[in-house]
Amino acid sequence: MSLFPTYNRFDVKVKTAQGTKVVDVDGKTYLDFGSGIGVCNLGHRHPAVQEAVEKQLNAYWHVSNLYEQPIQQEVASLIVNNSVGDYVFFANSGAEANEAAIKLARKYTGKNKIITFKQSFHGRTFATMSATGQEKIQKGFGKMLEKFEYATFNDIDSVKNLMDEETAAVMLEVVQGEGGVYPAEPSFMTDLAQLCQESGVLLIIDEIQTGIGRTGKRFGYEHYGVEPDIFTLAKGLGNGLPIGAMVAKEALKDAFGPGAHGSTFGGNPLAMAAAKAVLETMFNDEFFNKLELKIQYMSDRLEATIKPLSSVKDIRQKGMMIGIECSRPAIEIVKELIELGLLTLVAGDNVLRLLPPLTVTEAEIEHALQKIKHVLEK
Ligand SMILES: *Cc1c(COP(=O)(O)O)cnc(C)c1O
Repeated sequence: MSLFPTYNRFDVKVKTAQGTKVVDVDGKTYLDFGSGIGVCNLGHRHPAVQEAVEKQLNAYWHVSNLYEQPIQQEVASLIVNNSVGDYVFFANSGAEANEAAIKLARKYTGKNKIITFKQSFHGRTFATMSATGQEKIQKGFGKMLEKFEYATFNDIDSVKNLMDEETAAVMLEVVQGEGGVYPAEPSFMTDLAQLCQESGVLLIIDEIQTGIGRTGKRFGYEHYGVEPDIFTLAKGLGNGLPIGAMVAKEALKDAFGPGAHGSTFGGNPLAMAAAKAVLETMFNDEFFNKLELKIQYMSDRLEATIKPLSSVKDIRQKGMMIGIECSRPAIEIVKELIELGLLTLVAGDNVLRLLPPLTVTEAEIEHALQKIKHVLEK
């Protein structure tokens, strides 16, 4: 093996994927309730995305950001017309989008401190690892970037205690994903937005996992009636093509003037073609009305079939972002579900995480929950 052993991989050798199904090299079929960690929100190889990327493959692949690429403006318009943001910077991943957000917040305010949260996850680069309030992510890499301080999620006083004259921004996920699927409380979000506004501190929302329909809204912040100054996107935006985006309010525009930031591949036309197709397919009332029914179905069936099991301690759900807290390590459960042909995820130690595609059918939900019930009953 000549790959760095950075991943503890499961014993699944993928050959093809379509919709909610993944097929391995032996022809075994899996129901995919992980969506490649919340990426393929429209299912694998969604026809509109596939068609758009194929068309772009036959046009051009890369010319660099030295030249105008109209497709970048089209995707940026789709994002800002459907959100509270005004300007978009395109990157290639979630961590890069967050890097851009951190750089912009420091440059705009001229201040250094960024308050983030314990059990958060913001990425693996030096700045985003420093922003991530988890020791296991930072361990072994020496001194972190300075001036990141960690408050307690859903505790407004812990934020107040850390906020001072040096504070540029508060950065958080509205549902802590990797940390165990913990949604922010509504009162915490309104208090936080108000505190930031009164203190002249920027509010950065990391929507990398919660954005692009995952929680049942276009962006997770919509549930809370708050407006971030900056938010970041990645995972679901390209439905599998690598992309990241940092979106900010008009007032921050001039802090990212010519030469302030850049990326060779950022705004790559193949990724843009995918993102454009994703947003055009998803961002309409019909899609979200349908999704709401599926979310309700998921919620009803979780309540009826999974909640009563004695090995289930708690179920947390925000749209199609689901955490089932179990009484044993979730990694064991994930392995047993793979045997039964169901792909799921872990969050924290004992939380089984489900991120099915938003195009999942009721029959697929029922099928998956029966398998989960079977494993959790043992
Ligand atoms: C996945 C994730 C990231 C990191 O994205 P990468 O593309 O792996 O760099 C950052 N923040 C959140 C909330 C995520 O879920």
